[in-house]
Amino acid sequence: MSRIAYVNGRYRPHGEAMVHVEDRGFQFSDGVYEVCEVRGGRLVDERRHMARLKRSLDALRIALPMSSAALSIVLRETVRRNRVRDGIVYLQVTRGAARRDHAFPPAGTAPGIVVTARTLDPGRGERLAAEGIAVITVPDNRWGRVDIKSVLPNVLAKQAAREQGAREAWFVDAQGFVTEGSSSNAWIVTPGGAVVTRPADHGILSGIARAVVLDTVAAQGLTLIERAFTAKEAQAAREAFVTAASQIVQPVVRIDGKPVGDGRPGPVATALRREFHRHAELS
Ligand code: PLP
Repeated sequence: MSRIAYVNGRYRPHGEAMVHVEDRGFQFSDGVYEVCEVRGGRLVDERRHMARLKRSLDALRIALPMSSAALSIVLRETVRRNRVRDGIVYLQVTRGAARRDHAFPPAGTAPGIVVTARTLDPGRGERLAAEGIAVITVPDNRWGRVDIKSVLPNVLAKQAAREQGAREAWFVDAQGFVTEGSSSNAWIVTPGGAVVTRPADHGILSGIARAVVLDTVAAQGLTLIERAFTAKEAQAAREAFVTAASQIVQPVVRIDGKPVGDGRPGPVATALRREFHRHAELS
């Protein structure tokens, strides 16, 4: 089956889906994105993803290119045309195409929008969760590497993880505290059984899966502490895990080569994964 992408008002075969060379997403990374899980053909937590999209767009002063209702239809139609039952729908909104200039383009420049959808093998996520994943730690130099004429520290961190046989990289700030993963939020379970994650301040992306897990933690009667933790504390923790819309809860069993707990997925992460969709919204 051929894949279909939505690009600026048209559904196009994936291989022919293009944006203009002057699109500011391509030229400047001048845009925002969302990734929403698709489960049984339905969107998971669409409301919260759309609320975050609006917050991100407002912060960058980019207009939503269509009404929320129209966008919701486009997301569903892209999922339907790609026959995705379990997978992800991806959405990118940019400041549009205009003659290259760092300053904002003239008022009235239409924002750009791209939507794609992809099937993910649910069995693969389950197999990974049964084994647990390895992470590495890297300095949180996002926005710090102003010498590089580019905006891609998250990509470099993920690649470093892959090259060291890990699936994720955890950013560590100048004080030695873990901020978040390159595309996930970071969590530990302390020896006393408390679930710990960093507060969603300006230092991390406020993950939608993170919000769902906060509700799941409360429903399970677990103790939650929102505070920063160090990589060393994480290595000595009972459990560690990551959360993201595309992977819900993934147990972390190794950090920088050292096993976490007994080196196997722990009961807290496993239960949070199992209960996750009870606390997510399907639409
Ligand atoms: N942190 C970063 C830097 C991310 O890129 C992501 C997702 O891509 C997350 C956290 C997790 O966010 P969500 O749960 O909304 O997928």
